[in-house]
Order: sequence, then C-alpha cells, then structure tokens
Amino acid sequence: MAKQFKPETLCVQAGWTPKKGEPRVLPIYQSTTFKYDTSEQMARLFDLEDSGYFYTRLQNPTNDAVAAKIAALEGGVAAILTSSGQAANFYAIFNICQAGDHFVCSSTIYGGTFNLFGVTLKKLGIDVTFVNPDASEEEISAAFRPNTKALFGETISNPTLEVLDIEKFARIAHSHGVPLIVDNTFPTPINCRPFEWGADIVVHSTTKYMDGHATSVGGAIVDSGNFDWDAHADKFPGLCTPDESYHGLTYTKAFGKMAYITKATAQLMRDLGSIQSPQNAFLLNLGLETLHLRMPQHCKNAQTVAEYLAQNAKVAWVNYCGLPGDKYYEQAQKYMPNGSCGVVTFGLKGGREESIKFMDSLKLAAIVTHVADARTCVLHPASHTHRQLTDEQLMEAGVRPDLIRFSVGIENAEDIIADIEQALNA
Ligand code: PLP
Repeated sequence: MAKQFKPETLCVQAGWTPKKGEPRVLPIYQSTTFKYDTSEQMARLFDLEDSGYFYTRLQNPTNDAVAAKIAALEGGVAAILTSSGQAANFYAIFNICQAGDHFVCSSTIYGGTFNLFGVTLKKLGIDVTFVNPDASEEEISAAFRPNTKALFGETISNPTLEVLDIEKFARIAHSHGVPLIVDNTFPTPINCRPFEWGADIVVHSTTKYMDGHATSVGGAIVDSGNFDWDAHADKFPGLCTPDESYHGLTYTKAFGKMAYITKATAQLMRDLGSIQSPQNAFLLNLGLETLHLRMPQHCKNAQTVAEYLAQNAKVAWVNYCGLPGDKYYEQAQKYMPNGSCGVVTFGLKGGREESIKFMDSLKLAAIVTHVADARTCVLHPASHTHRQLTDEQLMEAGVRPDLIRFSVGIENAEDIIADIEQALNA
C-alpha cells in the first residue's frame, strides 16, 4: 500500500488491511504471547529463520501495523515502535554505537535528548560532540573523529524552533561514511519527510502530534533503507559482522535493507525492553488517522497567533518560521512549504516575571508539561523543564529566560487570540 497512496490515504488506511471476515478496525492484540503447534516451529522463530510473533516484548501485530503506517508515511522500509520518544532516540544511537564510539549532534535539540546524549550515554562510554547546526560544513566536519558513527539533528528544535538544513547535514554525514538521524517529531511526515532530503533514519516522539490527544507516551524509529552499512563495515560491526548472541547471524546479510530495524528488534528490544504497549499503539493509530487534518489546522492557527503576537506592543519578540523575516523562514519554505508545526515561542517586554504572570492569566490555554496537543497548551521552560539552569546556562542552551512555549491547538484561532489578549491585559 505504501508506494501508490498519498499521505492522507496512508494516515487513514496504511498498516492494517483486513482480510475476509476480519475486524475493520485494527484490533488490540492484548496478549504477551502467541501459540505454536510444535517446539520446532517456535525454535525457528528464535533463530530468526521464520518470521512470526512469539513474545510482545519483541513484536506484536498491533504495534507492527502502526509501525508500518509510520514507515509508509515517512517513505521508509521499516519501523519499530518504542515506549517513548526517549527510548526511540536511545535505541537509534545505541543500535550503531557502543562503548568507545562517538557521534556528532546538533546542539539545538530537546532538553531530554540533550541530557540522554550528553550525560547518560557518556556513562555507557559513548561520547557526543554538540555542534551549532548553523555552522559551516567545514566547522561541523571538524567535530568528526575516526570513531564517529552518526550525525543527529531535529527538523524543528524543541523549544528553540530552529529549522535544520537537512541536505547540509546529510552531505556532512555521508562524506564521513555515517548515517544522518533526524528527530522529525515537530513537523511530522505530513509537513516534512527527511528521507527525501537525504536523512537515513528518522525518530519520533509519537507522544506529540502523531498521537495528538495527549493520551499515550510513545516513540518510533524509521529506517529509509538507503544507508549502505556494508560499504562502511569497519564502522558498523554490530550490523555487518556475525552476532554471537544470535547464532552468528549477520544482520546486513540476512535482512538487507531491514537490517537496522531487525537488529533494533532482535537485540535491543530483546535485551532492554521499552516496547510500546499494544493499547498505546491502538490509540496512536487513532491519532494517526487524523494527522493530515490536524497538522494544517495547527499550522494555520499558529500562523495567525504568531502574526497577532508580532504586532502586539507588549510582546518583545516572536519565533515562528512561518513569519516572513524569521531567521528560518527561507529554510522552512524549502523543507516545509505547506507549514511547519503549531508551536510558537515568544517573550514579553516585562521579561521573565511578566511571562509567568501572563501564563497564570490564561484561561483556555493550559499550563502543562506537554506540547503538540489538539488543545492549546503553554510552558515556561525557565520555570519548568529547564528550571535547574541559571540564566546564563539558559542562554547557552538557546532558551531565553522569558521564553514562553505556546503550543497552538486546533480550536478556533479567534478564541485562542482572545485568551492571549485577556491574559496580556490582565
Ligand atoms: N524528541 C522531541 C523533539 C521531543 O519534543 C520530545 C519530548 O518532548 C522527545 C523527543 C522525547 O519524547 P517522549 O517524551 O515521548 O519520551
């Protein structure tokens, strides 16, 4: 189904095609395990000689259907669902990096990912160098070492809303013989498909727009199937040499373009868990069925809100790549001509205190630790997600102390603006 249908059709139909007499709606396979008739049948599954389900920590039919839908939307060959976006980012790196390895990463990424990469992965012996994504190709290239195994960036960074030059990042990664991994959470494949610009692996926090209703934490990893691991076999022994924990099987030889996702399933899920629950995958699928309707509405409303804020005398600054004059306007037009995302950031002339007062006065928009929800929501990173940082550290992370992250929902834009207006006047 993947190739011939457009994104709107894939959102509704991909992944689950019932046969005669089967449920029209993707069923929740609420079962940890799956039955076989002979011991030999089950043994062949453990040897990866047959494909089939045996234990939900590795694979589950509900999860696989939803992963297939996300793979189709991104234009990839295979995908795996994870229990969270954090797990997706961890596995995406850990699938090709081990102790002693290194990767290069844009410095403007989600704070949780920044900490995972900069603190926790370091404890496992995997080193990272953060680079300014707007630096020149030469400067970013200078961060690469002989043991570098990947380059990582976010299409639109959370919360700083910087737009990644994906083609530039892909050129740099490929000139060093490593894949480009892109976190495409904010635009979703409705607005940007990084594989079309040279990315090799895409990751998602499906918790955000994909679910869209704030019901289920989840993540996904999608492989384009384009990266030639065997051409750089010395860098990727985990994929290109026999896996002794799987009877000496070599993933690239046995699974070709499916090697990366098969290894993530057979090795990382087997050993570390972090599978998405089938119940959450079912809810995620409901969200995906309307993703193509919600994203344009998020973008249209965010554009209206950004334009309103930009002309308001109480507002000091606004970041939204849909505003002509925004630093990333041209780059966004190139990579996301139909819209970027529904998140706008801004600061008020009164600074940090004024930002907090404004947020406390909102009535429709809710203060929540969340973003990319159908309901308008708001967060002040300096008081919440980044509250351990000093003002100087905040500026270093690109998060201004007065920054309000306003996640525009799919309500009526006039109602959202009326709420902002009454809070600004409160
Ligand atoms: N990537 C991005 C861009 C995010 O915004 C987030 C969470 O906000 C994550 C990854 C982590 O996802 P999760 O909260 O699902 O673990």
